[in-house]
Amino acid sequence: MSTQDLLARIGQSGEETEFYTPMPPGYRKGHHKYVVVVGTVMSGLGKGIFSSSLAKLMQDKGLKVAPIKMEGYYNVDSGTLNPFRHGEVFVLDDGMETDMDLGTYERLLDQDLSAANFTTNGQIMTSVLKKEREGSYLGRDVQAIPHVTGEIKLRLRELAVKSDADVVFVEVGGTVGDYETMHYLEACRQLAFEEGEGSVAFVALTYVLEPNALGEQKSKAAQLGIKRLMEVGIMPHLIACRATREVGEKVREKVAMYTNVPLRRVVSMHDMSSIYLIPDALRDGGIDREVLTLLDLHARVDQRNEDRARVRWQRFVDRVGKANRSVTVAVTGKYVTLRDAYASIIKATEHCGLHLGIDVQLRWLDTTEIDEDNVADRLADVQGIIVPGGFGIRGTEGKIECIRHARENKIPYLGLCLGFQMAVIEYARNVCNVPDAHSTEFEPGCPSAVIDILPEQKKIEGLGGNMRLGGKDVELKPGTLAAKLYDNARMVRLRFRHRYEVDPKYIKLLEDHGMIFSGKHPTQPIMQVLELPQSVHPYFVGTQAHPELTSRPLRPQPLFLGFVKAAVECAARQQGGGTPAAALAARKAEPQPV
Ligand code: GLN
Repeated sequence: MSTQDLLARIGQSGEETEFYTPMPPGYRKGHHKYVVVVGTVMSGLGKGIFSSSLAKLMQDKGLKVAPIKMEGYYNVDSGTLNPFRHGEVFVLDDGMETDMDLGTYERLLDQDLSAANFTTNGQIMTSVLKKEREGSYLGRDVQAIPHVTGEIKLRLRELAVKSDADVVFVEVGGTVGDYETMHYLEACRQLAFEEGEGSVAFVALTYVLEPNALGEQKSKAAQLGIKRLMEVGIMPHLIACRATREVGEKVREKVAMYTNVPLRRVVSMHDMSSIYLIPDALRDGGIDREVLTLLDLHARVDQRNEDRARVRWQRFVDRVGKANRSVTVAVTGKYVTLRDAYASIIKATEHCGLHLGIDVQLRWLDTTEIDEDNVADRLADVQGIIVPGGFGIRGTEGKIECIRHARENKIPYLGLCLGFQMAVIEYARNVCNVPDAHSTEFEPGCPSAVIDILPEQKKIEGLGGNMRLGGKDVELKPGTLAAKLYDNARMVRLRFRHRYEVDPKYIKLLEDHGMIFSGKHPTQPIMQVLELPQSVHPYFVGTQAHPELTSRPLRPQPLFLGFVKAAVECAARQQGGGTPAAALAARKAEPQPV
């Protein structure tokens, strides 16, 4: 049988065949193209940043792109992963709890993603086992090949159909040779065979070492890493060489020579001062045009779209490293030693800083050591305080002290999820005269539980699947600071990940004492944004949501933007003795937004 005949049989059910390649309805073979990004030599090469930067270049050209991250772990989602080990849990609009890399894609592509853009071994195996129980495999013994690989290919093609993608960007987690991700590579190899020439481009990220003792770049590890890829039947089309310094032509020649990849397709992807410079660096290296050629996509390029997108991006990138003033913001984080746990907060403040021409310095604070006596000292020279999301009692009393300090001393405050709940507890205790106010998360059976578990979820127990997750509508109260920050919008969308909330029976007491719930659930008594009147505090805002997850480089998140602006004004007050003129000067000094 010829290859063509063989391929024609793929997907036909009922017939005895070695293949198992279900095709989703509406799949247009030849229309959907794929770029598969794999890592060799070591982990932590920034595959997600590379892949999203390349995807952005394609998107700028007017092509529809759809990224997918394929994880090698057996968890079904990232919800139960410890951020200390794995980085933050990134929540998508549809409620999927994913790896932090999905945040990188959403930010660079300025595109909301869904569960279809993320898969894990746990998800793949769950589907395979479910199909086995349902008898979908027609009496066959269920095997890694073709059933597990078939399931993976189905995921990729389903994403292509669902997103009507010109190009699906497949990021294979881990490093080539990892036991956990071999079936992903095998599935991609099969995909390339089935889709045919010009449909799948493999990009290998590798690492060029430069040992201090030698003072020169060495390519052997890179060569060996790529050889490992070839051993599983994949010839890369493009190679991106990660390195600390630009990878010179000699070294690239060597890599090209040993891997059968033409020199123009072996590019340097050395460290840059900012990830926002990477798309341009890849374009300068010509990699976008090589991908167009490899996938026969030149005819689909919308040149005008690309020109417009480049101008917009350039204006943003021009601001990198140009800040002429700085503010310091304290972030009270439990995982103070691991910045990845707060990746989106770091990004959200960075977006605002670039937008305003301000260098926002984050100072990490372990609140387990903070108490009433040392809080003023620890927060003496900050112009803003963020209490981020979190779980568990550790450090909560210190956080409450920080919030009290921010409130009483008019230091801008932004409370995120747990930081919103802590602000309610602080206000209840110190302003509303409820000294034993607490959350039942930290004090089960607490007599004054201003924060309590969601009523409709009280019966659900155990880890996973019992949180309020994903994008939800928030109705803003006209005339409030929150409404102003959102240009007087009535309804906005924010992303959530929580179990507890303000107990509605305390709302009146809190409001009577001056707290404003400026964002609520449109129909239920779920409080989603709080603030204090600007007559008593310049910027005291909390949200039950995670606004950091929806901040984008060209569209900084409004609650963060308001907070950073307030921090700049706070700096002016601290320097200028708090005169209104100083605050005005700070406002006037603001550069025009991008
Ligand atoms: N632990 C709190 C809750 O479950 C806050 C969650 C969070 O900050 N993401 O409601």
